[in-house]
This record gives sequence, structure tokens and C-alpha cells, in this order.
Amino acid sequence: MKIHTLSVQLANQIAAGEVVERPASIVKELIENAIDAKATQLQLDLEAGGTQLIRLQDNGIGISKDDLPLALSRHATSKIKTVDDLANIGTLGFRGEALASMASVSRLVLTSKPEAADEAWQITAQGSNMTPTLSPAAHPNGTTIEVKDLFFNTPARRKFLRTERTELNHIFETIKRQMLGCFNVGLHVKHQRKTIHQLTACTSHQDQEKRIATLCGSAFINKALYLDASVDGLAISGWIGLPEASRSQADLQYFYVNQRVIKDRVITHAIKQAYQDVLYQQRHPAYVLYLTLDPTTVDVNVHPSKSEVRFVDSQAVHRFIFHSIHKALAQITPGEALNVTALNASSAKADPVQPPPSAYQPSIESLAFAPTHQGYRVNAPMNTYQTSNSSTHAMPPSANTDQPLPSHSEHESIPPLGYAIAQLHGVYVLAQNKQGLIVVDMHAAHERIVYERLKIAYEQHQPDAQTLLVPLSVSLSQTHIALLDQHAECFTRLGFVIEAAAEESIIVRQVPAYLAHSAVGELIRDVLSDLSVNDQSNRLESILHRMLSSMACHGSVRANRQLTLPEMNALLRDMESTPRSGQCNHGRPTWVQMTLPQMDAWFLRGQ
Ligand code: ADP
Ligand code: MG
Repeated sequence: MKIHTLSVQLANQIAAGEVVERPASIVKELIENAIDAKATQLQLDLEAGGTQLIRLQDNGIGISKDDLPLALSRHATSKIKTVDDLANIGTLGFRGEALASMASVSRLVLTSKPEAADEAWQITAQGSNMTPTLSPAAHPNGTTIEVKDLFFNTPARRKFLRTERTELNHIFETIKRQMLGCFNVGLHVKHQRKTIHQLTACTSHQDQEKRIATLCGSAFINKALYLDASVDGLAISGWIGLPEASRSQADLQYFYVNQRVIKDRVITHAIKQAYQDVLYQQRHPAYVLYLTLDPTTVDVNVHPSKSEVRFVDSQAVHRFIFHSIHKALAQITPGEALNVTALNASSAKADPVQPPPSAYQPSIESLAFAPTHQGYRVNAPMNTYQTSNSSTHAMPPSANTDQPLPSHSEHESIPPLGYAIAQLHGVYVLAQNKQGLIVVDMHAAHERIVYERLKIAYEQHQPDAQTLLVPLSVSLSQTHIALLDQHAECFTRLGFVIEAAAEESIIVRQVPAYLAHSAVGELIRDVLSDLSVNDQSNRLESILHRMLSSMACHGSVRANRQLTLPEMNALLRDMESTPRSGQCNHGRPTWVQMTLPQMDAWFLRGQ
């Protein structure tokens, strides 16, 4: 077979395979071009899900008459000139192939007028006809690109187009991804001449949250934390969903690197790890995050779709993202959660159709949809919650069983989780706070508290330990003794003093203070069993994680143990001061709020 050069047309069509997959990819490229042209207002018109018409008008810098034919030819761009430029890209486009690709598979009309020009010009290209024609036109400052009859000359590609509805959904997802990345740009979208989306340019943080509410739903923004951190030339800002706003799919994860929306495994992994402690395994975090870094330290020229990047120092990026998010999540104590969601709920009411979001934490509605499979539920055997576990000083001065409930006027001084009023079925603590009723899963809550304390003790090599008055002899299987040997250092660092006694028994002389009132022998056996069943990996970190978590779980207060009011209040105060206390260490929520307005609604009060 003889070798011959492909025609320009065919070469473009081959390239188009990578750039133009469906109408949504055209929308993406057009919006990117408009943003690069510094436009602030965009008008998008669509017909038949974009398959018949996609037209984007912008008010950007425009293209001069002389440049028009170049704009449509392949490898022609105004955005880079040299190899050095390629290493320092500040625009969304740079490959100079989008318009050429589009023109090769559609009927394309480009009309433009730079501010300095007296008149607008139009250039038309039609698939096979690669000699575009120029003519004068009427157009305000800016550019309009019209793409009609997509794939009219490539029937094989046309076959892959889906229904109008599906294509429109893809376009919406694209719009979402693009418009979350350029808050200063407004967009008006019409389909079949009817407005379907309207986004105004944002001028404040509040506007931005409104846009997020419009695009991602108010449920997300009402349960999101704003994050802003920077270290050594790396900066991250944006919104991370509270753990209880996690999702069953990884479908609300938007990450921008220097304003470009990307998918990257390093980043996904760093974020997932940051949430590891607070998310139930199968759940996915929700986030909209912006990373800014020196453009020379990131390569964006990885794939024609420009949605992948390579970091020069991916480990530094991983560390930075992990730490920033991990730290932010650790700060979510009940009081914090209350502020976040109450604030967000008042600032971002974009969707008037939806009922006002509940004040904070998992609402009853959201819990109704909580995952119901086995692991998510507690099956707690009996044990104890001792007042000595907690800081009694954090209790209200006169909290005792006869204490009258605080009246409304005393609300100012009420702690976020309020004061305990009763225990329900030996499982839940009921408390009254400013907003209404708090229901606490006492095992889950205590588990988190113990876990966080064990972690700190472990990290600081300063176990808060208690010597047992009477050393405890515990009989163990040989396998368990071997496991105990293997993990001896972990146990020591946690505050245990354990000695070998006989072949199948040990003597426990000292235990971590927070576990002092648990059934220690049982706890050690349970933890060793968990280790033998669960941990095949040798990663110290994961062994520790398991061990601490299992210890916290087995050492925590179990259901059906009557607590006194001071004990319950102590638990509430501990929760308020413990990081990540909104979730137990299996990711289950530890408490919910039922607000007075919610309850009023149940009883049709004031409606
Ligand atoms: P790239 O964006 O990679 O440069 P494109 O094929 O998307 O390649 O666009 C080619 C060139 O056309 C751009 O470099 C830019 O100069 C010009 N251009 C495209 N769209 C617009 C627009 N909306 N406003 C101004 N110039 C544009
Ligand atoms: Mg482009």
C-alpha cells in the first residue's frame, strides 16, 4: 500500500474524534474560547439538544477580519507561540484545534467584531468545503459562533448521538462544570427559544454561593464548609460538603486547577483520604474546590480534551490538599456545624421551590434516605458510659436531675447541643437546645470521642493512663497472644501495660484512662479479633486506624445503660469539644437536630 498525506479535511475529522464527541463537547470548547476572550456575558442558544444548533454569543475581545480564516484552521491559535509558552499556560485553550475540528463536522458560521474595528465580519465553513468564505456582517463587539447540523457529513458519528434529552443533560453538566469555574461570567441558555438557565455574573461571595446552589442544589451549599488555605505557592479555596452531606455516587465533585476543571487521581485520592475518618466507606464526599498554583508547575497538555493534568510535584500537591481538607473537617464540632448550615441556609436561597433547609446536621428528612444496609446500623451490646470519661466541669453549674429546663430568655448561654432532658430506650439522649430538640446516638457519639482521644494520646506519646488497683488476668488464645506481641508497641503507646503470664493468659496492669471503666478483658479480646479478621495488610497506619477505631467502638458506652442527666450533659459537652464529632468513626451520624419550626409543621401550628 502506498503512503500518502491525508487531506486537511480528513486530518481535521480524525482530530475531531478526540475533541468533538457530542454537542456538550462543542459547548465546552465555545465557552472556553469566550472566557479566554475575556467575555463577561454569554448567550447560548440550542436546538434539538444541540444536534441541530449550538450558538454562543459573547462580549469578548473579538477576532479581527484578517485573523478569521486562521481561527478556523488547525494548529492556529493566538494563545501560545513558543515551547516556553506551552510550559506556562494561562488560558483554557492553547491547542488551536477546536474550531477547526468543529468546522470539519458541522456547518459553522463565525461572526466577530473587535471593539477597535468599524464593522463585523463573518466567515462560513461547511464540513467538506474547507475554503471558508468571508462576508461583512452586523454584530456588536464580541463573537458569535454558530454550529449547525453536527456530524451531518459523518453518519457514523451521528449514530452515536443520543436522545435530545440525554444530549441536553450532557450539555447541562458541561455548563455546570464550566460556569462553576468562572464566577465573573454570566450565562443565559435557551433551548428551542425558551430560557432554560440563567446565571448572572457574581460580584460577591454570596452571589457565588447562590450560583453553586443553582447549579449543585441548595442541599449541597447548605451543608458545605468554605475553605481557604495557602502554603508555599499553593492555594486552595472552595466548598467542601459536611460529612453527612456525602453521596452514594461521586457525582458532586468539581475540582479546578488554575480555573480549569479537571479530573485527577492524585487529587481525588487526597480528598478521599481527608474524608476517610468521617465517611462511611461506600459514601463519596461532595466538593467544589479551586487549586491555584504556578502554571509552570503543572502540565495541562496531557490530552486533547484538556481535562487531565500532570503536577511536577504531585506529592506536594497531595499533601497540601489532604492537610487543608483534613484540618477543615476536624474543626466541625456541633457548634461549628450549626454556624455553617444556619449561615449558608440564610445566604443561599436560590431554589424557592425547595422547603427551607433544616438548621444543621442530618435532618430527619435526610436520615430517612440514609443508607440502610447492615454496616450502617449500630448493634450495640451493653456497656457503660462513666462520668469519669468526660469533663464534668463542662456541665452547667446546676445540672442535676431536678434542674428545671432553661427558659427561652436563657437561650443566649445555652451550649450548641443544649442540655439533656431524657434518655430514650436506653439508646438515645434527648436534649433541648436553642433550635429545638437534639437526639444523640450515645454509642456513636461516645465512640468518636474516645477515638479522637486515643488518637491524640497515641500521636503525642502521652497516654492518659490509669493503673488498675487489682491487676487483671485475661485468658487469650495463642493466636491472640501472637497478635498482641506483634502489636505490642501500639498497645503500649495507647497506655496499656500488659505482661505475659502463662501460655494462654496475660496480666493487664494499666489501661488508657478513657477505657478504665470498660470491660477490659473483653475489649482486648474484641480488638484482637477485629485485627485478626480485618487486617491482612501490614501498613502500620491502617493497623493503627483499625485498632484505635475498634478500641473506641468496644470501649464506648453501649445501649441500654441508664445514664444520669449529669452523665448525659457531660457527653454533650464532650461532643462539642471533640473534632469530627458529627460522625462516629464508621461515618454514621452521631446526632440530629429537630427544629421547633419542623415540629410546628408536624402539628400544623401557625400554618
Ligand atoms: P485555541 O482556543 O486552542 O486557541 P480554538 O480552535 O478554540 O483554539 O480557537 C482558535 C483561535 O480563535 C483562538 O486562539 C482565538 O484567537 C480565536 N477565538 C476563538 N473563539 C474566540 C472567541 N469567542 N473570541 C475571540 N477569539 C476567539
Ligand atoms: Mg479553544
